[in-house]
Amino acid sequence: MQYRYANYQGKIVNISDTNKIIFQKNDLICLFCNMPMIVKRGPVREWHFAHLTVENNKCTYESYLHKLAKLTLFNNIKNRMDEHLPINLNIHQKTKCSGCYLKSEPCIFDGSNKLFDISKRYYQVKLECNYLSFRPDIMIYNETDHIFIEIIYKHNSTKEKIKSDNKIIEIEVTDESDIHLLSSDCINPPSISSLVNFSIKHLKQNVDINKCNIIEKYFIVYKSGKAVIVDVPLMHLEKYKNIIAYKEHVQTHKVNRKYEYINRLNRAYKLGNKVISCYMCKHISILKKYLKGHDFCRLLKKEIIKYCFFM
Ligand SMILES: [Zn+2]
Ligand SMILES: [Zn+2]
Repeated sequence: MQYRYANYQGKIVNISDTNKIIFQKNDLICLFCNMPMIVKRGPVREWHFAHLTVENNKCTYESYLHKLAKLTLFNNIKNRMDEHLPINLNIHQKTKCSGCYLKSEPCIFDGSNKLFDISKRYYQVKLECNYLSFRPDIMIYNETDHIFIEIIYKHNSTKEKIKSDNKIIEIEVTDESDIHLLSSDCINPPSISSLVNFSIKHLKQNVDINKCNIIEKYFIVYKSGKAVIVDVPLMHLEKYKNIIAYKEHVQTHKVNRKYEYINRLNRAYKLGNKVISCYMCKHISILKKYLKGHDFCRLLKKEIIKYCFFM
């Protein structure tokens, strides 16, 4: 196995930073299995560390990588806490549409990434500690609150921890080339990490009504006299306001659609709107069946089928 990193006198060293170092025997050990390592700095193959003996060695690239990532990030955070340097969390804040933000399911738009310095809030860090029944790779915390940091490999997620509602930063490290990302001021590099169980507030965004996608049920009487109940994007009400004579918002929990419709027709009519509908005609005979009754026109002697939920 070829590793680019090893433990050199208690510190993590990258092979590419070793050209001036003359290693003594036993200077180098494996980050994961603690077995002696040697340097391979030949002219042909890429420089790397290798285990001195390969017999019976159960070290795997995956476990080495996990340990390497964990130690690199832990050292970085610990150092930042000791030096009072910023520890940034990259948070993606989505935005809520200003046109419908009070609705239960407003339009949500993709927002932007922002860095939040959390070093004032979380000022302690532990490596592989026990917390209740969990054992996070890293935990940053204060007296009352904590964040788990989990290094994961190829989507090995941390399902139980996720269910537990603990805030978790999941960092997926699949290759040694990801490691340098864990030494920066941002402890959750967006390209390889995700935040779990964080409640991130949406920002309100001023949105042109024509971009608002929310759909509501409306009773609409057009200037032509046609009356319908339709599911309509709010933007259409604005767009077609020149041909709409009258509108009412319809609460969706009402189930008796036919009588809902007829009541609204009468109301619109009484308010002076032109309403053209069989239901406004003296020849209609309305069946008492609620939803599927085929009402009857006594003049034409035939059933009217639509009570018009459709255009
Ligand atoms: Zn090893
Ligand atoms: Zn909206």
